[in-house]
Amino acid sequence: MYNKNQIWRDIISCSLEREIKPDVPMKCHTSWKIGGNADFFCIPSHQDQLKEVLSFALNHSLPIYIIGNGTNIWVPDEGIKGLVIKIVRTIDKVEYSAKMVKAGAGILLPALVKKATEKELSGLEFAAHIPGTLGGAIINNASFGSESLSEIVNEISLFDYGSGYIKTLKKEQFSFHYRGIDLGCEKFVILGASLILSTSDRENILLKIKNVYEQRKKSQPVNFLTAGCVFKNPEEKSAGYLIEKAGAKGLVLGDAQVSTKHANFIINRGQATAGDILQLIEKIENIVEKAFGIRLEREIDFVGLPGYR
Ligand SMILES: Cc1cc2nc3c(=O)[nH]c(=O)nc-3n(C[C@H](O)[C@H](O)[C@H](O)COP(=O)(O)OP(=O)(O)OC[C@H]3O[C@@H](n4cnc5c(N)ncnc54)[C@H](O)[C@@H]3O)c2cc1C
Repeated sequence: MYNKNQIWRDIISCSLEREIKPDVPMKCHTSWKIGGNADFFCIPSHQDQLKEVLSFALNHSLPIYIIGNGTNIWVPDEGIKGLVIKIVRTIDKVEYSAKMVKAGAGILLPALVKKATEKELSGLEFAAHIPGTLGGAIINNASFGSESLSEIVNEISLFDYGSGYIKTLKKEQFSFHYRGIDLGCEKFVILGASLILSTSDRENILLKIKNVYEQRKKSQPVNFLTAGCVFKNPEEKSAGYLIEKAGAKGLVLGDAQVSTKHANFIINRGQATAGDILQLIEKIENIVEKAFGIRLEREIDFVGLPGYR
């Protein structure tokens, strides 16, 4: 049985109270600024600490939720019963070898692109303004326009905490698909990846980054609280097109609104709750299904709800 007070006492008796914090507001860890408290929360500063914290959680049957920068997740207003482990700005070392860049999962994509640009390495420009971590981007096979992470990832290292082993998977041992990846295991934390880039000169790379940003500014609500695209694009048409044509663009629920710029984005206008956003998502799904007979599939991960991987 889940006994929060007992778990906290065990955290203290294992001298982990500096690493694992109780009652942390997830609002501070999601780009939508939503979600109640995580019962327990940790940003491990290195790999060994991550392993120690995971081992504690497993030994105490504490549900584990791994997040990166929280830019593609929804968290319930009721909070999360369990341990949220956030891998961001730690486990983020970057090493280079010719055209290969090896980076930790916690590095933010804009920082990684900046480093690659300094080394005159091209191929990551599409990700320069995606606000997530490399770990989150691998899970989602992050993309912009016609470019995606799947084209440049060569090896992935992860901690399979189901089996207790650190694994390095070669290209043929994982398969990317649209907004996802199959890694052949279920309970894992991405630790890092090696990417194969190409050489280019700095000016060209910076120009490409600028062009990508111009495209984004034109088509996306870049200055609002969002979590990126909410739905996957069905084969027939883009989700944004279907939502707009079904008449749901601009729809408001509480303080959540379907963006008037790009209908696949939901904006928190300031005080939206996770409940507002979820109800709006359900409303959009029903409106689009009624109009086109297509049930939209969610891209966002619902951390803390059944179905979270
Ligand atoms: C303004 C804005 C613009 C965006 N633009 C784009 C875009 O152009 N293209 C695009 O693809 N996405 C975009 N996104 C969505 C999002 O930024 C990306 O999907 C990003 O890759 C998610 O990374 P994250 O670190 O925030 O992951 P999170 O949102 O924290 O997590 C996403 C998923 O990854 C898992 N996860 C994260 N880190 C790890 C890890 N180390 N090990 C195991 N599992 C992990 C989580 O459990 C969760 O299932 C945008 C989001 C915003 C807010």
